[in-house]
Amino acid sequence: MWEVNNNTLNKGDVFHSIGWPLYNNAYGGSFIYKLSDTLLSIGFVVGLDYKNPYLNPYEEFQKFKTHKKIRAVLNNGKRISYGARALNEGGFQSLPKFSFPGGLIIGCDAGTLNVLKIKGTHNAMKSGIMAAESFYSDSVKNINSIELSEFNKKFKNSFIYKELYKSRNVRPGFNKGLLLGTLNAFIDQKIFRGNAPWTFRHHKKDNNSLKNIKNSKKILYPSKKDNVFSFDRLTNVSFSGTNHKENQPNHLKIIKEAIPIEHNYKKYLSPETRYCPAGVYEIINIENQGPSLQINFQNCLHCKTCDIKDPLQNISWTPPEGGDGPRYSNM
Ligand SMILES: Cc1cc2nc3c(=O)[nH]c(=O)nc-3n(C[C@H](O)[C@H](O)[C@H](O)COP(=O)(O)OP(=O)(O)OC[C@H]3O[C@@H](n4cnc5c(N)ncnc54)[C@H](O)[C@@H]3O)c2cc1C
Ligand code: SF4
Repeated sequence: MWEVNNNTLNKGDVFHSIGWPLYNNAYGGSFIYKLSDTLLSIGFVVGLDYKNPYLNPYEEFQKFKTHKKIRAVLNNGKRISYGARALNEGGFQSLPKFSFPGGLIIGCDAGTLNVLKIKGTHNAMKSGIMAAESFYSDSVKNINSIELSEFNKKFKNSFIYKELYKSRNVRPGFNKGLLLGTLNAFIDQKIFRGNAPWTFRHHKKDNNSLKNIKNSKKILYPSKKDNVFSFDRLTNVSFSGTNHKENQPNHLKIIKEAIPIEHNYKKYLSPETRYCPAGVYEIINIENQGPSLQINFQNCLHCKTCDIKDPLQNISWTPPEGGDGPRYSNM
């Protein structure tokens, strides 16, 4: 979130971009929303199915802000808060069965985000409304079912289902790269209007997409930031208001202790040190012991990226003690 003092964008303006500074085999792009005369929200989205372990989503965002056009938008401004979050991009092809005994899975947990528009609030709200309606009609009819399976039918008849159906082929189209993905998006949306007679599949799981570091091209990022448009990770984290008591149990559980070094470090040069937007994971060298993973859990922004992207699913994000975590304002 930035406070700016220039008229490059007007209140209510929306800006989206795709690609740069990402290279062809990673999916992503930016958004800028001018929320008031002086407030704007700016962000960069990177698909977690990226292949190159050197890629650093945080650094891509810093680089993005140094573009001439983006600098003009941020000119005379100051960053006022910082945050990060994983988006559920699976959409239509990844929708689960929503009901289970004693509960419903709804909103972004169920994957109702429309990734084509990066918009999910309306669908999350609608699924909440339908959940309440299902619960109410069950109670009024005095059925008191163990499982509110009516919700599954309600969902299929809702605008959420239709909207997700129409955008289903856009995201998987980018598995073939930016150019083919853009061409597919054009054909799918402009010619077939979301009703193409085929449905693309998502291919690999995000945690299976990384290539061995030996077969990956090194990506170099500037080690120094200008502190005007780009900032180092820890400085930005201090603008998230995140806080976890130092003496509470670490909420980021490592399932098998050997994997971070024996697998992640040796095969991918510890991608968690790059994909984590808060610098929680750090490789330290202990004398006579070699590299070791240090977890600075106090900085965690609860984005859940590590839970998703860790190659062997060896990191489990759990709710921290006492509701600690980021304290976002205006975000
Ligand atoms: C960067 C970004 C930009 C976006 N831009 C837009 C946009 O412009 N327009 C739009 O419509 N949508 C946008 N979205 C999507 C939108 O934010 C989501 O679709 C929407 O917030 C989903 O609502 P939800 O209630 O399902 O989930 P959430 O808003 O994620 O709410 C879930 C809540 O549960 C809490 N929680 C999680 N685990 C636990 C636990 N174990 N115990 C207790 N609480 C827990 C979380 O802290 C959170 O408050 C954006 C998302 C991102 C990340
Ligand atoms: S530790 Fe995991 S959940 Fe926390 S900020 Fe880093 S990637 Fe996100």
